[in-house]
Amino acid sequence: MKIYHIEELMDEIKRSGKFYHTGKILQAYEVARNAHKDQKRVSGEPYISHPVAVACILVNLGMDSECIQAALLHDVVEDTEITDQQVAKQFGDEVALLVNGVTKLGKLSFSSREEQQAENIRKMVLAMAQDVRVIIIKLADRLHNMRTISVMREQKRRDKALETMEVYAPLAHRLGIRAVKEELEDISLRYLDPIGYQEVEHLLNLKRSEQEAFLKKIKNKIHERLAGEYQDVHVDGRIKSIYSIYRKIYIQGKSFDEIFDIYAVRILVDSVFECYNILGIIHDMFRPIPNRFKDYISTPKPNMYQSLHTTVLDKEAIPFEVQIRTWDMHHTAEYGIAAHWKYKAGITSRGKIEERLAWIRQLIENQKESNDAEDIVHSIKSDLSPEEIYIFTPKGKVISLPINATIIDFAYAIHTEVGNHMIGAKVDGRLVPLDTILQTGQVVEIITTRDKNHAPSRDWLKIVRTTGARTKIRNWYKKERREENVIQGRAELEREFKRNMITLTESQRKEFVESVAKRQHFETVEDFLAAIGYGGLLLSKIMPRVKEDYLKLYRTEQAEKPTDIVAIKSPRTKGASSGVTIEGLDSCLVKFARCCNPLPGDEIVGFVTRGFGVSIHKKDCINVLNSINDPNNAERWVKAEWALDAVKKENFKSTIEIFTDDRIGALADISVALSNLKVSIHTLVAREVKSGCNVVTVTFTVSDIEQLNYIINHLSKIPGVESVKRAGQ
Ligand code: MN
Repeated sequence: MKIYHIEELMDEIKRSGKFYHTGKILQAYEVARNAHKDQKRVSGEPYISHPVAVACILVNLGMDSECIQAALLHDVVEDTEITDQQVAKQFGDEVALLVNGVTKLGKLSFSSREEQQAENIRKMVLAMAQDVRVIIIKLADRLHNMRTISVMREQKRRDKALETMEVYAPLAHRLGIRAVKEELEDISLRYLDPIGYQEVEHLLNLKRSEQEAFLKKIKNKIHERLAGEYQDVHVDGRIKSIYSIYRKIYIQGKSFDEIFDIYAVRILVDSVFECYNILGIIHDMFRPIPNRFKDYISTPKPNMYQSLHTTVLDKEAIPFEVQIRTWDMHHTAEYGIAAHWKYKAGITSRGKIEERLAWIRQLIENQKESNDAEDIVHSIKSDLSPEEIYIFTPKGKVISLPINATIIDFAYAIHTEVGNHMIGAKVDGRLVPLDTILQTGQVVEIITTRDKNHAPSRDWLKIVRTTGARTKIRNWYKKERREENVIQGRAELEREFKRNMITLTESQRKEFVESVAKRQHFETVEDFLAAIGYGGLLLSKIMPRVKEDYLKLYRTEQAEKPTDIVAIKSPRTKGASSGVTIEGLDSCLVKFARCCNPLPGDEIVGFVTRGFGVSIHKKDCINVLNSINDPNNAERWVKAEWALDAVKKENFKSTIEIFTDDRIGALADISVALSNLKVSIHTLVAREVKSGCNVVTVTFTVSDIEQLNYIINHLSKIPGVESVKRAGQ
């Protein structure tokens, strides 16, 4: 681990070209070094290295002298003998206030229960309202801790990574400090989903030299065209962060080849006028992709970000994003709120700073207006966790729900009895259907009946999003409607039997159902049926087993026939297990790893990521082989199998590589063959790997490994094709 010395900090200060009170900073260093002199970090290096590293980060962000002193002293009050008063006496109230703020923040934990987390975020906001530098120091502190987190224990790494991803990275984003945000996200991802991280890293590395050559070519081309007319134009290009690519692959479900925004080319100029002119030139040089132009200059993002964005295609149809902005906007884009300190004496005008601080000011004002601190929490939290919405009761109470929650979820979140007696609802004063999906900020009024015999509808079970509401509805049925449940349960069982082609005589059926009920630990068949009726027992979950038993007991002689086990298509709800069953987990987000694109028929294994579901790999995937023996992750590998109903699920993507000689027409033959095979192609890219050898990479949809093998076999027979293999093998 790199050890930071005071000399490094002094070098950074010199390089910044900005005025710093170096005398005071050296004093702060001496005090901190003395106070921490007997302490070591977990990695074994002297503790003082950490505050010095944090101070370096802050100099890079352009923060002021007080901030740097506070950074050096940020852990002394917490961890050593030195008190608040001593800091104030030697370094002044401003520095003491900053140290104090950071110390207090350090005591907050954000990985705890939800309400407590809201409370902690509220405290953070209050600290920020006092002096936003406290938060910036805290971000730098967290950044250095994350950079050095590899020495921590596994559990601690994951907790910190999750907290960083959920609270600190969004905060850095909110404050507009791009570099810090991206680095925090990338490091956190490495520990939250190490395999996913490696996948993206691997994909990027595969094509690194190609990508760099591409960027260089584009940059030169733009520069040449602009240099004549614009003196001070600056063009640079970069490949976007691992996490931003990861999000596109996993959360938006795109394949690596479909991602538009791997490349970002930045053009920096002096005036807004030039930005729009250059946009015109770019659209003249390259073909713009429709609907991808965004004008954040006339409409800045809430975090003050300003820029023109457009995505264009080069001659070879490779898409890339171009961002055009002024230097001034660029500083804000990189440093956000911190730009205020960096350029306070220089380029930036006073009015601009005011504008930039509008967000913070707004917060403080809201806080003054409303005594209900909860409001502020909710406005912040909705920024921090886009997965949640906040709904108001007519009396102004805030109820938080997951995104896509309905009126029914809301009613049950208020009170079980409100849900059970609901007959209608108004959103913002207007009557709406009960399956209406709610949006943050709406005021929802639930209309209830006094009728004691009123029943919630069974159909609600299909509509609700929260487990809370679902359980409450089920409980009502469990308690109030036993007879009805038994009838309902019997009907459902009947239906499932029919669908699974379970045919039995009357007496066989009685005996069989009794044995199933017993195996599920019910005392009577009635209890068993009632549980199915109110939804306490999910038939879909036990049916594979039931079917197996049935085949064993009654159809022994035919059980081997393959026709008996194909295609049980159960109605699949969105987001359900995607045709894979995972040992020990009922329902979870399942995603297919892009490194090996597993298909039904492949042997598979699951990797439990933290907060990102389970990723399914082929057992022989290189990433699996590399990490399955890592003791740190041992308990995260889980057994996974294809569910029966995955067999006919059409939507599996697979990528193959076809190696050909350079016979003209080989490519044409391949496309013809693929179209004859009725393969639905997503992408097809051909490139020369060395002279006389081409590789065609095709991504398409297949249903299983058999179909894939059939396609591979077919393609192998084309003249000029030397070999065909699955990508990543
Ligand atoms: Mn620290």
